[in-house]
Amino acid sequence: MMVVVPLVFVSLANGAASMGDVRKLGKVGIKTIVFFLISTAIAIVIGLTMAFLINPGIGLDMGAIGAVEYTARAGKPIAEVLYEMVPRNPIQALAEGNMLQIIVFAIVVGIALTLIGEKGKKVLELLEQLNELVMKLVGIVMSLAPLGVFCLVARTFGQIGISVIVPLGKSVIAVYIALAIQLIVVYGIMLKGFAGLSLTRYIKKLSPAMAIAFSTCSSAAALPANMDLTINRIGASKDISSFVLPLGNTVNMNGTAIYQGVAAVFIAQAYGIPVTPTMALMIVLSATLASIGTAGVAGAGAIMLSMVLHTVGLPIEGVGLIFGIDRIYDMGRTAMNITGDSVVAAIISKQEKEFDEKIWNTDFAKDE
Ligand code: ASP
Repeated sequence: MMVVVPLVFVSLANGAASMGDVRKLGKVGIKTIVFFLISTAIAIVIGLTMAFLINPGIGLDMGAIGAVEYTARAGKPIAEVLYEMVPRNPIQALAEGNMLQIIVFAIVVGIALTLIGEKGKKVLELLEQLNELVMKLVGIVMSLAPLGVFCLVARTFGQIGISVIVPLGKSVIAVYIALAIQLIVVYGIMLKGFAGLSLTRYIKKLSPAMAIAFSTCSSAAALPANMDLTINRIGASKDISSFVLPLGNTVNMNGTAIYQGVAAVFIAQAYGIPVTPTMALMIVLSATLASIGTAGVAGAGAIMLSMVLHTVGLPIEGVGLIFGIDRIYDMGRTAMNITGDSVVAAIISKQEKEFDEKIWNTDFAKDE
């Protein structure tokens, strides 16, 4: 909880500032952002749909753990929610931890920073350094994670008993089915429709990078391999990939978005809170933003989940319910995160006529 507000503000302002840079890249930049945002929003909708079909949290009696504070914001009309997203006083928003307002403020700050260019260089640098600082804080907290996870798992099982295994298992299944749909249907259609590329061939070529992402749970760790394979095995343009992949590494996280959608519904159900259409929309909105602000390191998506829960008005304590098995979700979602970046790089290369068909058509030996 201590790191959530600084983390959200600093990482989103930074993210928006790096997105603002894309003005320089004009058409390619805008196309990239559009692909990123749309594929992320689709990912959450798939995640939410799977969660509502599988209902992982229903039947889990969190009453045993005691009442939680739950602020129902479900009744508010959407217009009001949107209106209230803009803070009258940003400092108050930070102090109160009003996530939506913090997000809006952070994004506006980031965009304005790129608009003033040179003059804002110092602030931008400060923001980048603060980002380092916050990431270090997260790192320190995460170093306590093994102990924390042990206690959380013990507490969850101790209080709710073995019956928690089935709901948790169901949530894992919901996440993985949604990830598979994103890969096969969404990326399949995107690759065929926008670039005429076959998904199976694509996966074959990208699989070593996907395996690194899966095993390290870090998009950042998989970035060099993703870059290499997307350029030298798939045939995407070097220039376009050097822009799309590093940006997508933190900004475009389809797998994380899916996980956050499923997790939000799971936690709502576990606490017996009905998810209204307004809440679902807020989940889509906040999970899109949360996935933009998530760093490409293990476990970051679960920390940002608390922002989604807070924004929607769900009990943040719910994170404790699933944090213990986060690694299982993290492996799949990280693999999908980096695949989404690569797919966008390839599609844009193809559309800009900078795709190397010769490389794409070459079959590389495994050990090459
Ligand atoms: N581990 C993920 C990644 O590096 C982020 C997350 O935790 O969702 O892409």
